Amino acid sequence: MKKHNFSAGPCILPKEVMKRASEAVLDFDGLGLSLIEISHRSKEFVAVMEEARALSLELLGLEDQGYQALFLQGGASLEFLMVAYNLLDKRAGYVNTGTWSSKAIKEAKLLGEVVEVASSKDKNFNYIPKGYGIPENLDYLHLTSNNTIFGTQIKEFPTTSVPLVCDMSSDIFSRQLDFSKFDLIYAGAQKNMGPAGTTLVVVKEDILGKVSRTIPSMLDYKVHISKDSMFNTPSVFAVYTSMLTLRWLKDLGGISAIEEINEKKAKLLYSEIDLNPLFNGFAKAEDRSNMNATFTLAEEGLKETFDSMWREAGINGLNGHRSVGGYRASMYNALSLESVGVLVDVMSELERKA
Ligand code: PMP
Repeated sequence: MKKHNFSAGPCILPKEVMKRASEAVLDFDGLGLSLIEISHRSKEFVAVMEEARALSLELLGLEDQGYQALFLQGGASLEFLMVAYNLLDKRAGYVNTGTWSSKAIKEAKLLGEVVEVASSKDKNFNYIPKGYGIPENLDYLHLTSNNTIFGTQIKEFPTTSVPLVCDMSSDIFSRQLDFSKFDLIYAGAQKNMGPAGTTLVVVKEDILGKVSRTIPSMLDYKVHISKDSMFNTPSVFAVYTSMLTLRWLKDLGGISAIEEINEKKAKLLYSEIDLNPLFNGFAKAEDRSNMNATFTLAEEGLKETFDSMWREAGINGLNGHRSVGGYRASMYNALSLESVGVLVDVMSELERKA
């Protein structure tokens, strides 16, 4: 039986995508060859890369607006450095909303001055800072739209004339935003897109080429753009599987359709967290993430019972990150409302039993 997979990433992907991807490993579209044994320069794989890039821009509503989509390697973690290499000339602003923002700040500091314009570290990152001032003289402002570990999500993005860079690793393609507000978006594939191994970077071309440093080729967005995201051998399986997930999302009705389902799932779980006296939500209610719900047990003594109950119900991946403790239910695009229902039933069953 397939488990209800609440893992934070790598995580659940649509069943039909998994089936098609696994078939392609044996025989790619009837070629008599595997997807992972053909040349990345073959016309068949070039078509995959082009479709993945085009679908990314189409789903985000960013076609014909000067943006380029790239499928790179090195994870979102390498983007922490690449963003700074390509955009940080003198001074950049960062909003520190958790572990991943802190890591992005650390890398940027290698290359220039970093102004931490706001932080929620004072409360172990359980909220999103708001109403902070943004200096005008920044090369860019870096945000993390969804904080995977702490379960907070930016609901309203700041309005500023400074170029906006956003790490959307854990909520890309999950909700409708005006993506044209952002000059650079990046996201590791392993949440809402595909297996680990590739990172989507969507960049507005006209913000590039403004720094004075020499950029090593592999770290230079302009080089990757000039080679149509094929400067070196791409992660073919991860790109193909991401392309299949993007097709799946388009067939479903795009981001606005999945957003509706994601809202239902989050509402169902957060209502249970709020109504059931045995559970406490970790994140401040107004900043709660629709992707990662973090919560703790009111009585630690119930841990063993609760853990065996959810495991018996076929639930996987519910343990919280060590920096928060408790539980984290990740409800990415491919997780069904039914799976959230199973978790909520276990939580209310615990209340009946306790
Ligand atoms: N940013 C966010 C918001 C993340 O959730 C993660 C990984 N979970 C990362 C960055 C780092 O991604 P990677 O492991 O692909 O480097």
